[in-house]
Amino acid sequence: SLTAGVVAVQGDVEEHAVAIERAARARGRDVTIHEIRESGIVPDCDLLAMPGGESTTISRLVHSEGIAPEIRDHVAAGKPLLATCAGLIVASSDAGDDRVDELGVIDVGVERNAFGRQKDSFEAPLDVAGLDDEPYPAVFIRAPAIDSVGDADVLATWDDRPVAVRDGPVVGTSFHPELTTDSRLHGLAFFENEAASVPALEDAQ
Ligand code: GLN
Repeated sequence: SLTAGVVAVQGDVEEHAVAIERAARARGRDVTIHEIRESGIVPDCDLLAMPGGESTTISRLVHSEGIAPEIRDHVAAGKPLLATCAGLIVASSDAGDDRVDELGVIDVGVERNAFGRQKDSFEAPLDVAGLDDEPYPAVFIRAPAIDSVGDADVLATWDDRPVAVRDGPVVGTSFHPELTTDSRLHGLAFFENEAASVPALEDAQ
């Protein structure tokens, strides 16, 4: 069976675990999920999620607990990571905030709370590259804008701004795919891309 990790130092961890289980179950895969609050667990994980929450807190704790270099190694090994909202901010290469020590695993610059000023929270139907034609119901909560894109592909935009990107094995979203029952984004990040995906069923058993 697959081993999944959810970075669990802070944020909406349980919601990611449920979404990972749903995406795996839809593909007939068993998955064991670890909540990661300390070093030593990430190296066992086939796939990782880094949740929304508060990016300065998540940044501080992934570094102080020694999880940050393990996440970088995971990505360098080509294993998938889905980083959402605050997770995207921490995973980015430029968070525009000294209190965030970026992991630099998604080559984008972000602006924290950029959507938050107009409206703290909203849902938007997104066309996402790689998903079927059905719009994805994206939940934005004090969401970061992606304001520069380096060596990464834009998967979706809203209001003419990129809100979902892929950089090799990493998918980052400004919004919260873990807060809906639609697990297609988790499926895309973990099971349905060429750049990165979990081991095929035969290999995993
Ligand atoms: N505003 C938060 C931050 O900058 C992110 C919001 C979220 O994850 N919902 O850390």
